Amino acid sequence: MSSSEILLVDDALFETHASRSNHPERPARLDAARVGVARAGVRVRPLPARDATRLELEAAHLPGYLDSLERLRGESAMLDPDTYVVPRSVEAAVRAAGGVAELATALVRREAKRGMALVRPPGHHAEPDRAMGFCLLNNIAVGARAALAAGAKRVAIVDFDVHHGNGTQSIFYGDAEVLFVSLHQWPFYPWTGAVTETGRGAGVGFTVNVPLGAGADDVVYREAMRRIVRPAVRDFRPEIVLMSAGFDAFVNDPLASMMVTDAGFGGIVGGLVEEAEHAGAPIALVLEGGYDLRGLEACVAASARALIDGAIAGPVLAKIDPAHRAELQTAASSAARTWRSVG
Ligand SMILES: [Zn+2]
Repeated sequence: MSSSEILLVDDALFETHASRSNHPERPARLDAARVGVARAGVRVRPLPARDATRLELEAAHLPGYLDSLERLRGESAMLDPDTYVVPRSVEAAVRAAGGVAELATALVRREAKRGMALVRPPGHHAEPDRAMGFCLLNNIAVGARAALAAGAKRVAIVDFDVHHGNGTQSIFYGDAEVLFVSLHQWPFYPWTGAVTETGRGAGVGFTVNVPLGAGADDVVYREAMRRIVRPAVRDFRPEIVLMSAGFDAFVNDPLASMMVTDAGFGGIVGGLVEEAEHAGAPIALVLEGGYDLRGLEACVAASARALIDGAIAGPVLAKIDPAHRAELQTAASSAARTWRSVG
């Protein structure tokens, strides 16, 4: 088992999901991410993607929804105002979910310690019963369930896409085997992800939301990681860490208003790599959003390097503004009820 290489899932099918209109979730994103991996200068080992099985998909989605999606093979349609399908979209989505399931399984079996899935369409908004927000199937949820099926007892999902991962939260809301932590702009689409959403039943405390007002930068994110995300993951003792890696909190992203740099994303990923190491767990990044192509390339490059190198200490200089400091305090107080290392 080597931590000097990244097990990489990619597939030409992911390019076929392409709207004829000027949609931001477009195949060029994949090209940018691929260039980012190449630029990172890290060793990658390709892991062929495969289609998710019906059983794997039913671990995250309702049969009725999967049936309705099957009927859309070969069709073009809008499933909500933002979410398109074209003739090969369902094929691509089933391959994307299967690719993440395959990657998670390989990592649980210790075939590698680091992984990356450059998948499209993205997944974290997809609910058990419907497509939403560019997402058809919840790739990371299917992957997390596959990891559990392969023998992992605890799966941590950290979602740092700028939008709240409402679908992933829904799927695991009552579940104590999966820790779901989300950092996101708030209030903002999809309007879920309040700090008070913490789970249900046995899952209370296993959903941790860190909503942050517009304008949060590397310093705010670094503090959120240090104070809340990393301690919660550490206390949970995951057997695998999966990242819903959206890069739309990037400073130039056209869809959101955060100010994270490529180095900032490297810091987030590197910090989680350190936590995975601490837990003796493998870790993988699953692509979600990110709509500034040059930014996406730089952020993926920094993240790929961080997957291999771990955290690189950055300068601690800037102060956090009072509004963001108050938000961090609120999120930390909530998470501290379940996770004692959160302060
Ligand atoms: Zn997003």
